[in-house]
Amino acid sequence: METPANEVFRDSIGTINEEGKRNWIYPKKPSGWYYDKRKIVSYFLLAFLFAAPFVKINGNQFLMFNVLDRRFNIFGFPFWPQDFHLFVISMIIGVVFITLFTVGFGRIFCGWICPQTIFMEMVFRRIEYWIDGDRNKQMRLDRQKWDAEKIRKRLLKWFIFLVVSFLIANVFLAYLIGGDKLLNYIKDGPFEHLGTLIPLLIFTAVFYFVFAWFREQVCIIACPYGRLQGVLLDNKSIVVAYDHKRGEGKNGRKKFRKNEDRVALGHGDCIDCFQCVHVCPTGIDIRNGTQLECVNCTACIDECDTIMEKINLPKGLIRYASEENIENKTPFKLTARMKGYIAVLVILIGVLAGMLTLRNDIEARILRLPGQSYEQKGENIISNVYTYKLVNKTSHDIENVSFKIRDMDGEIKTVSASNEFIVKAQEFAEGTLFIELKKSDLSGDKNKLRIDIYSNNELIETTTVGFLGPRNYN
Ligand code: SF4
Ligand code: SF4
Repeated sequence: METPANEVFRDSIGTINEEGKRNWIYPKKPSGWYYDKRKIVSYFLLAFLFAAPFVKINGNQFLMFNVLDRRFNIFGFPFWPQDFHLFVISMIIGVVFITLFTVGFGRIFCGWICPQTIFMEMVFRRIEYWIDGDRNKQMRLDRQKWDAEKIRKRLLKWFIFLVVSFLIANVFLAYLIGGDKLLNYIKDGPFEHLGTLIPLLIFTAVFYFVFAWFREQVCIIACPYGRLQGVLLDNKSIVVAYDHKRGEGKNGRKKFRKNEDRVALGHGDCIDCFQCVHVCPTGIDIRNGTQLECVNCTACIDECDTIMEKINLPKGLIRYASEENIENKTPFKLTARMKGYIAVLVILIGVLAGMLTLRNDIEARILRLPGQSYEQKGENIISNVYTYKLVNKTSHDIENVSFKIRDMDGEIKTVSASNEFIVKAQEFAEGTLFIELKKSDLSGDKNKLRIDIYSNNELIETTTVGFLGPRNYN
């Protein structure tokens, strides 16, 4: 089926031309109310992103995703592999939260919070405006032959981009290996830790490639969240939208002419100045309607508002609105789908809060040594051998740890100099122990025992183990 003429723009993406080559975007430098607010939000988030791996709460790094050692801290809360279920629930909550926001408020996350947009628009693009100038100057510089000015500007820009990419790669590494470890590596010098330096340089190259060249293609082609928009948005979702009713009027948009009565002529409020297109970092024309390329960055709102002010028309020709709001001039309402998502979100947050409250500070696992049966000592003592692992999830050492059998006489002997030991903060202790019971106390060949774990004579955890004894043939 042939695409209608007014929908042809949907057949290709704004950054690829008819020959399939990259259409390089030179967006005009944005300015206006939303841009100023976005700058404040972005600088706050950048400060947070750079500080989070170096800030500690109760001795725990605020945010850490140490995949190699399988240790994760979220808001200073340590998660161990044993807490994987909590981690998964947190991730599900994050996904539901973002989904809820997308259904209700479109790609507000992309425009205001996404690190790709923040780094691209608020860091790299601003460096580019500072060195190369605004849209027209950038276009001229690109066409210019490689003279002294162009070489100087290009080298300066690429060098600064590289330094910033290296900084981002370091912060990224601090999230992965821990802020303290990174600072120690820096103190030791880069060549002491070649195994870390090489991935760091690879990350730097990736960030440089993304922000110097790949740019908006991340949002348009690579980002899975961007691709979800088609299924999450409906005509009730709030997005950055062009009010086509007002903009097109009865007789369509028309260039501005002084002293012309546009209302009498039936022209819409859009004066076809193309400023909203020139400012768009993804190279689209928002007047064509919601498109997959739009990251809701609000630059076109600001630009159009400036034009409206200049020609004495009300602002908001491009604004946050749903298709339904524009068609019917109705206010925003919660839909049944959004109410459903809110209910799921509340339930999941309740489950997570409950699990975090019930989570033990110490995780104990005592398992019988595989392939080992019982051992008989003398006439009346039966012994089983076990391995144990105690994980200390707190930020303080757990001292004088010992094991006791609950509701039974018997003895637990750890294979170490002392039967009491320390489990260091954020670490684990493991070893071997023997449990010895009187044969007369056993009820059969398979028994269940409750083992209490004490620290300084205070019960901190209880676990259950199996105990093998001789078969009772009577
Ligand atoms: S900036 Fe506003 S007036 Fe100018 S083309 Fe875009 S929508 Fe029309
Ligand atoms: S259409 Fe407007 S909101 Fe969407 S990406 Fe372009 S400038 Fe940003």
